[in-house]
Amino acid sequence: MEEIKVFCPATIANLSCGFDVLGVALDAVGDEMIVRKTEEKGIRITKITGQDLPAATEKNVAGVAGLALLDKTEYTGGFEIEIYKKIKPGSGIGSSAASSAGAVWAMNTLLGNPFSASELVEFAMEGERLASDVAHADNVAPALFGGFTLVRGYNPLDIVPLPTPKELYATVIHPQIEIKTSDSRKILKTNITLQKGIQQWGNLGGLVAGLFQSDYELISRSLEDHVVEPIRSILIPGFDDIKSKSLEAGALGCGISGSGPSIFALSKSEDTAQKVAQAMERVYEAIDVEFDVHVSPINELGVKQVF
Ligand code: ADP
Repeated sequence: MEEIKVFCPATIANLSCGFDVLGVALDAVGDEMIVRKTEEKGIRITKITGQDLPAATEKNVAGVAGLALLDKTEYTGGFEIEIYKKIKPGSGIGSSAASSAGAVWAMNTLLGNPFSASELVEFAMEGERLASDVAHADNVAPALFGGFTLVRGYNPLDIVPLPTPKELYATVIHPQIEIKTSDSRKILKTNITLQKGIQQWGNLGGLVAGLFQSDYELISRSLEDHVVEPIRSILIPGFDDIKSKSLEAGALGCGISGSGPSIFALSKSEDTAQKVAQAMERVYEAIDVEFDVHVSPINELGVKQVF
């Protein structure tokens, strides 16, 4: 194969109780990318549509992640990349991760799959380092593995794929304001109290168990964030209202997607996820905030070939 077209999923990182360690891939929101082998060495980004992003290889996360992969192969040629961007950068649903993950997955496929999913995560994390100064894996891991993933440890990297309860749907609303991941990290405190730690790891364990047992009530009780949400939600217009209206509409839980400003909810059934979307929309319509809203099944494959 000389050329491949891929779907690069949007992802929700953190999922309330799993700051920097949990994420999930979406199926209805994502970019597309065409990656082509070239005789010429190195990586060139030949086309970007949808968003104004740097085309220079070392300034684009797809280029940086791809170079990390190229550095570890015997392959003597190079790659050309076309990016069809649908996920807005800075929206909190893994725009940079989609490009980093898509690029390395496509290159690995074109080279006959020499690398494991975990190795691809390490390459894609170099793209995340460019986007936000921190090589975090909570978006690129679900983008590459699909479904829910836990980053059990960073040193060495230890990714644990988690099961996806069949009836789960996600709703994501993106108020049209931009928050850079690097900025929303700066406002966080570096210490937490033992009491908050206990609440947070209780919930994280509860959420993981809930996913394994398809126990929607347990998932619902565990979607709480005592550490980051109280601080970051201040940056997001209407957050408290969106959250309470989503829960009233039947959501299992609601919180900040990644570093925001997008807000996510998880629901049991597409019908409830649609009702949650309408409840969220009404909040922003009432306070005149422009938004995009998405209802999506969970993507269990991650980056995938499209024809
Ligand atoms: P997100 O959480 O949505 O990925 P970030 O703020 O973390 O948003 O990252 C977006 C940053 O990465 C922007 O500064 C953007 O210019 C840069 N960037 C470079 N290449 C890409 C790309 N291919 N896709 C998205 N963002 C990119």
